[in-house]
Amino acid sequence: MLSVEIVTIGTELLLGDLVDTNASAIARSLSDYGIDVYAIHSVGDNLARLAAMLRGALDRAQGVMTSGGLGPTVDDLTKDAVSNVIGKPLVLHEPSLAAIERRLQAFGIREIGENNRRQALLPEGAVVLENPNGTAPGFVAIRGDGKFIACMPGVPREMHPMLSERLLPWLAKRFELGAAIFRRTLHLTGTAESELDRAIEDLFRMQENPKIAVLAHDGRVDVRMTAKARSRSEADALFAPLEAELRRRIGTAVFGVDGETLEAAIVARARDLRLWLATAESVTGGGIADAIVRVPGASECFRGGIVAYDNAVKRDVLGVDRRALEQDGAVSERVALEMARGTRERLDADVALATTGIAGPSGGSDSKPVGLVWFGLSHGDELATRSATFPGTREDVRRRAVSFGLSWLWRRLHRAER
Ligand code: ATP
Ligand code: MG
Repeated sequence: MLSVEIVTIGTELLLGDLVDTNASAIARSLSDYGIDVYAIHSVGDNLARLAAMLRGALDRAQGVMTSGGLGPTVDDLTKDAVSNVIGKPLVLHEPSLAAIERRLQAFGIREIGENNRRQALLPEGAVVLENPNGTAPGFVAIRGDGKFIACMPGVPREMHPMLSERLLPWLAKRFELGAAIFRRTLHLTGTAESELDRAIEDLFRMQENPKIAVLAHDGRVDVRMTAKARSRSEADALFAPLEAELRRRIGTAVFGVDGETLEAAIVARARDLRLWLATAESVTGGGIADAIVRVPGASECFRGGIVAYDNAVKRDVLGVDRRALEQDGAVSERVALEMARGTRERLDADVALATTGIAGPSGGSDSKPVGLVWFGLSHGDELATRSATFPGTREDVRRRAVSFGLSWLWRRLHRAER
């Protein structure tokens, strides 16, 4: 089994100014390929310490993967350290220089400076990893004994594609790595984790490849299938029969797969049904509207939303009955209902969702504790309400209320007839 250590480079990491997301991203992809990670280190922009770290890592493992310090400035020392450790001089790599020139020209810079020229210097004999998203190329330098140091830029937007599209395929080929791990995730809402466990328990125990895991989030449960396979298509073939069985049992709660969000499912369904949506939000302060508007195509199904925070706005803009506010209070079933009805009428929508609640930390009482949120929904001749009491901080309560509202809205639309 191939073993590596990960070294992320940059003084910012040691000062605690920067969270090391590169190390976790690299580690995750390596474990997908069944590559053993022996250790993860961070080191500052210091030539002697960086070289010592690389040397030590190569003593322990077959390879080292680094990120950072490939830039054009004097504190970018990765290549000097690698050259030193591998025992190969830095030489100019003409195709990389040409690529850097083309990139700078595209930005309107004609004279390429010494600094940028330095970025095309690579350890002699290194395997070059092109960087279509930045100037500095990555590379793999191989020592006489076959051990290697693979270097990638620090900027995550440049590092991620280089890792998955260049470096990992190169490693897989060179070290004849067999199977990798592939995932497919079904997203569910409106079902409790325990209920789900019961529904698919036997599949859980039966499955070896693919395996199933259930993960709970705010307003959503994920059923994740993980397969060991030699390619994505081989993995997909393994997923297909299991997914069919899962959908047969729990399909009505599935709103999407992999990167698909609840709000995207709402927009897709509303467009499908040709329904116009609207929101009236107090405690969620526009969070539900924000989620919907994030989805491309929302303009075809979302009229708008009103942040009705103050009682006067609930009353004057949405037409909530003054007596409802006085008798039942702003956080009440009746007010949630009237907010939904009012916004639906005023924004000329087919479906309206309203929220009103107590986010805290103060303002709660015995009958209306902090975290209590009433939701109202108006659709057709139906007026419906739900309430929930969410735990946590003000932020937690508001976030959970957004998730709950979106979940309810999706379930409504999902069940609605065309
Ligand atoms: P540049 O050409 O920008 O100098 P570089 O390869 O030299 O690229 P660094 O200078 O080390 O990379 O880092 C550039 C930026 O990339 C950092 O300011 C930071 O925003 C981000 N970055 C670097 N290392 C990491 C890391 N380990 N995790 C997350 N982000 C990182
Ligand atoms: Mg830099």
